[in-house]
Amino acid sequence: MSSQPHTVLSWVVRRTRLPLLSLRCLDCRSESATTGEGRFRVNANGKLLDVWLLVRCVTCNRTSKLTVHERASVRSLDPGELRGYHTNDPELVASRLLDPLLARRHRFTLDWTGAWRLETPPAWLDRAWPVQVEVAFDDPVPVRPDRLIARGLGLSRNEALRRIKCDIPLSRPTSTGFAFTVMASEDPRVTPGACVRS
Ligand SMILES: [Zn+2]
Repeated sequence: MSSQPHTVLSWVVRRTRLPLLSLRCLDCRSESATTGEGRFRVNANGKLLDVWLLVRCVTCNRTSKLTVHERASVRSLDPGELRGYHTNDPELVASRLLDPLLARRHRFTLDWTGAWRLETPPAWLDRAWPVQVEVAFDDPVPVRPDRLIARGLGLSRNEALRRIKCDIPLSRPTSTGFAFTVMASEDPRVTPGACVRS
């Protein structure tokens, strides 16, 4: 079919550091906390373990403990995971912080401001149109597709929306991979509002 895109490009959303936590401090009422370098605290009581992820208020430095495991049997934990808690393995810190269950249990949200980037291939505007772009998420950064697309294309949001076709809701934040098609700017098939919302 002539309408099939000739070129498929990959964009990747990736974190550049850990996000902050929007979490109310019990001392100063600030709403921002950080995992800093990333530390766990492990407390063994017989064969039972408590594991916490430590976070610190960015305003007053008060430290709080977020429960990761509570009275868990040592045998129920994978030895590699257990070693990771003792050595403050950065990947384990990231995976626990980004686990939605932890956020739900402790009632915080993640603040991704300035903590991620969009990686796009260098200069591709000489490609044959239309171009299909597949967006993948290496980390669960919630982004509004319309803003991400405009940023990646280097266009205003309105101009970007005129140039693309896409099947997902564009103003609702997502961290699930999606694809869209970019048409040439003079392409007669492109009309404002061509983007289908489901
Ligand atoms: Zn504080």
